[in-house]
This record gives sequence, C-alpha cells and structure tokens, in this order.
Amino acid sequence: MYQAKSLGRNTYSFFTKEMNTIMLRRFEIEEQMHGALKRNEFELYYQPQIDVKSTNIIGAEALLRWHNPVFGDITPDEFIPIAEQTGLIIPIGQYVIKQALAFLNEWQRIDQKKYTMAVNLSPIQFRDLELLGFIKNALSDAQIDTCNLEIEITEGVLMSGQSYIHDTLVAINKLGIKLSMDDFGTGYSSLSYLREYAFDVLKIDQSFIHGIPTNKSDCSLVKATIAMAHSLGLTVIAEGVETKPQLSLLEGLNCDSVQGYFFSKPKSAEKLLEFTENYKRGT
Ligand code: C2E
Ligand code: CA
Ligand code: CA
Repeated sequence: MYQAKSLGRNTYSFFTKEMNTIMLRRFEIEEQMHGALKRNEFELYYQPQIDVKSTNIIGAEALLRWHNPVFGDITPDEFIPIAEQTGLIIPIGQYVIKQALAFLNEWQRIDQKKYTMAVNLSPIQFRDLELLGFIKNALSDAQIDTCNLEIEITEGVLMSGQSYIHDTLVAINKLGIKLSMDDFGTGYSSLSYLREYAFDVLKIDQSFIHGIPTNKSDCSLVKATIAMAHSLGLTVIAEGVETKPQLSLLEGLNCDSVQGYFFSKPKSAEKLLEFTENYKRGT
C-alpha cells in the first residue's frame, strides 16, 4: 500500500521480497525509535552559516543525528519520515528546539555574539496545539531573543492550507521569530506563499548550487531567485556550497549568506565551538 501510494496513488503494487526487507527494517527502526529519546541516542549537529561579504559566522542550522546501538548511525533522511508517520516527531522535535536553544545560549555567551539558530520544523509539528507555547517557553528558559531563532519550513507545511498552520505562522512572525523557506526551487515553489507569509529568509536548494558555475541554467535560476528574493525584502542563503568557484559566483550575485562543506560540515556542539574559535583566529 505504501509503495502504491508513493507512486502517486490510484495504482497497484505487487508485494516483493525486497519490499519485505524494507518494511522489516522500517518496523525495526520504529521500534528502536520509541525508546531512543529516553536512552539519549539523539544528538544535534550544527552547520555554520557564513555572511558572504564579511565572511563572519552569523549562525548555524541544527541538524539531528541518531546514534543507535542496533543500527549504528541512521540518517535523518531515513528516520525523519518514520518519526513523522508515527507522530514521534512531536517529542523529538521538542527535544531539537530545547537542545538547539540551550546550545545557542552557550555559544552566544562564549563568543559574546548574537548568533542565530535555524531549526527545521516538519508539517506534523504544526498539528501540535502546544507548539507555539513550547517554543515561547524554550526561548525564555534559554534566555534567547526571539529574533535569534529561525524556523525553517518547506512548502510541505503550507500546502495543506489548514487554518491552524496559517495562524501558527502568523503568531510565530508576530513574536519576532524569523521564518525561512527551505529547499526553495524544488517542489512547486509557489510564489504565492512568499506573498502570503512574512518570510524573512529564502534558502536556495542545494541541487541548484551544485550545478553552478558550469551549468548555465542553474546560474540563471540562482541569479533570478536572488534578485526576486531581494526585491521582496528577503535575505538569501545558499545551501550546499562546496567549492570556491560556487562561492565566488554567489558573491557576484549578491547572495547574502552561505552554508556548506566548503566552510564546514555539520559538527557536534563541542566541535562547532572549536571551529568557531579557530575560524576567528584565521580571519
Ligand atoms: P535540509 O534541511 O535541507 O538540510 C540540509 C542537508 O544538506 C543536511 O543533511 C546537511 O548535512 C546537508 N549538507 C549541508 N551542506 C552540504 C554540502 O555542502 N554538500 C552536501 N552534499 N550536503 C550538504 P542531513 O543533516 O542529512 O539532513 C537531511 C534532512 O533531514 C534535512 O534537510 C531536513 O529536511 C531533515 N532534518 C534534519 N534534522 C532535522 C530536524 O531536527 N527536524 C526535522 N523536521 N527535519 C530534520
Ligand atoms: Ca533545513
Ligand atoms: Ca534544505
């Protein structure tokens, strides 16, 4: 059934041996996930975000990691969809918010700088009526200014058109929390969302960045996206920047900030603090 649905519904699929293996792994992962928070198996990694003009570190994106004794390290691309299907993304997402803000407090204190922290929120988390209250409490517990938290959402959050999602996004914006449109350029990239919601940041998807500067279409699309975002008053961040030529092109196109392996892979809290210290010495 899952296979038929993922093929666009209204079709059928035969059950195969491979599917059986996939389903088994899925069930076993789900089983492991139930106790994973309690067993302290999750960890947040942080990937620095760099201002293109000054080359200063301006913040980081929190990316979840899961170290499991049975399966080893499981990638978020595999476990996040399972967490969403089971509803476990709600407590796991709360852990992410709390942990990311606690680390931000430490990072800001050590460096005496108002870094921002970007946190990914899944569409399912918006069904939780306590989401907004939870975020408010977490901000006040960690003593973080609302403008230093950035919430990254994809179009998936907006597509259902539910009024409670609309209301939550408006309330998030009213609080002064930043809103970032993740993976822009993939999916439908409906421009009406940019008009309807007060996004602060537009994040160009890495599939476009990988193509620059050699692929002319990618260059044109990145250029047009930056110009459009700027004329709407949004800040632009390019993700997946891996090379110097990519960075130079983005600089020429007035892209505001970048994130990617060229500067740093996502790192544990401890390693990010080390990185920041060395980076400051190097620049
Ligand atoms: P995303 O939000 O689009 O995150 C960017 C992904 O690109 C991350 O993968 C990051 O490690 C990777 N990346 C960053 N720079 C580069 C680069 O230069 N080159 C390449 N090839 N990749 C780069 P990651 O950490 O495996 O996360 C995958 C996805 O899982 C994320 O995509 C996000 O959708 C989801 N995810 C991760 N953490 C969370 C979370 O806490 N909550 C939710 N809801 N989703 C999360
Ligand atoms: Ca993201
Ligand atoms: Ca992304």
